[in-house]
Amino acid sequence: MHHFQYRDQVLFAEDVPLEKIGQEVGTPCYVYSYATLTHHFKVFDGAFAEVPHLTCYSVKACSNIAIVRLFARMGGGTDIVSGGELFRALKAGVPANKIVFSGVGKTEKEIAMALEAGILMFNVESEQELLTIAEVAKQKGKTAPISLRVNPDVDPKTHPYISTGLKKNKFGIDIQLAKSLYLKAKEIPYVRVVGIDCHIGSQLTTLSPFLDALERIKQLYKELEKEGLGPQYLDLGGGLGIPYHGEEPPHPKEYAQAIIKAAKDLNCTLIFEPGRVIVGNAGILLTKVLYLKQNREKNFVIVDAAMNDLARPSLYGAYHEILPVKNEDKEMLVADIVGPICESGDFLAKDRKIKQVNKGDLLAVMSAGAYGFSMSSNYNSRPRAAEVLVKGSEYFIIRERERYEDLIRLEKIPAWLE
Ligand SMILES: *Cc1c(COP(=O)(O)O)cnc(C)c1O
Repeated sequence: MHHFQYRDQVLFAEDVPLEKIGQEVGTPCYVYSYATLTHHFKVFDGAFAEVPHLTCYSVKACSNIAIVRLFARMGGGTDIVSGGELFRALKAGVPANKIVFSGVGKTEKEIAMALEAGILMFNVESEQELLTIAEVAKQKGKTAPISLRVNPDVDPKTHPYISTGLKKNKFGIDIQLAKSLYLKAKEIPYVRVVGIDCHIGSQLTTLSPFLDALERIKQLYKELEKEGLGPQYLDLGGGLGIPYHGEEPPHPKEYAQAIIKAAKDLNCTLIFEPGRVIVGNAGILLTKVLYLKQNREKNFVIVDAAMNDLARPSLYGAYHEILPVKNEDKEMLVADIVGPICESGDFLAKDRKIKQVNKGDLLAVMSAGAYGFSMSSNYNSRPRAAEVLVKGSEYFIIRERERYEDLIRLEKIPAWLE
């Protein structure tokens, strides 16, 4: 469910017509719905109400500090994957003891920063990382709370670029090696084992990979318990999918019921790291039609948003529904919807059947809240888009559109070229 709906053929974000935002803020621009964001967080977090749990929103899905703060205010923690995300989470007011730190390449500097802040746990992805965390903790005179991110070798049946729990993926520690590393960790000073973690991929549309992974993790948990190492936290990562184009992913309640049932004999607090399922359908990318053109093969609708604004179609061949902001009765047209960037891979949709559009019309690229702005870049020296949060009949700019000056702010011309 989301709050981007037509009223008399005009597309609204909650009670604000998108046309108004297009005129006042300009395009391209990301628009998020407060009601949708909070609803999704409540539904997900509420589905686990009956068990001890912590919902750690995955910052990389949509990293704006206003959005991270919103979930923090609702009691959420965060899952971070870099020092930059730690900085954001702290700025947003997330309590450090609700932050979990994932990622295969944490630097010593990032580890030190997280130890200083006092995060809940490091999700460790290799033996060398474990030893490095212990070393940094020693230097700081602290004890690092850790869990091992286990790679359970299950196929999430999603796009290969967003599968993370197969043994050929770079993520996590091979489940067959995890027990011995846990036993090693137990003996290492300056680290304290507090959890087990896995995250098998993103945009999963069935429950079985989650449950297969959980079965394997449970076995490991029981073996660890026998060794006197029953971790306190079981972090099951994120990955629940959303409907982009007819997918029918399990509802968070269904997901929660299945997991609660499967984990009920474990004596631990569950942690989740949802990203997409919370923010995906809570945001759109608003763009304007610049030109129409035809060649012998195809029609092209050239819009002012490009792959630098929304990388998913180019990167994953992802499908995003594209809706006219004014839904008038028109003939249908089949076209590629493309951006201004000088790459043939720069498209938002291919061979898409849409209502005939004209120069100047606004289009809404739907379900762009997750991995939209957060993956955007300045390629082709395009200033990054503005971000807007709608709440009821008001809207707030939560990130200004970049200016040309921002593009070169950190660049320098050497003295010999002056
Ligand atoms: C990206 C990521 C998530 C969030 O994944 P979604 O599919 O957006 O829910 C959670 N945990 C880790 C470790 C991640 O890398």
